[in-house]
Amino acid sequence: MNCIFCKIIKKEIPAGIVFENKDIIAFKDVNPIAPVHVLVIPKKHIISVADASDDDVLLMGKLIMVAKKIAEDLKISNKGYKLLVRVGKGGGQEVGHLHLHLLGGAYNV
Ligand code: AMP
Ligand code: ZN
Repeated sequence: MNCIFCKIIKKEIPAGIVFENKDIIAFKDVNPIAPVHVLVIPKKHIISVADASDDDVLLMGKLIMVAKKIAEDLKISNKGYKLLVRVGKGGGQEVGHLHLHLLGGAYNV
């Protein structure tokens, strides 16, 4: 499978990893649109929210809780931040491996 995010998970290509556990990995977006721009992704290759199933309910919740933890660790939690998930081409999703954008700091997106 030619998935760039699966390659990051397998450490076949480098990334600025800020968090990792057995289910989830988070790394800095290579083309940030905010001072803090981290992508939080499941290690399971799920193409998008539209492809998630009932089996993924717990994993979907964990993604948000990991984003919350990273926001606290990076000290952007007090000011607030944005969590963004694009779904499919019409939603602007470019990488076909489900990901949650954590956006914080001074931004206007
Ligand atoms: P989306 O449009 O929601 O699919 O967002 C995909 C995001 O992945 C974009 O913000 C890209 O900058 C980011 N991205 C693509 N390739 C990489 C990579 N190799 N490392 C880190 N971020 C990436
Ligand atoms: Zn993948």
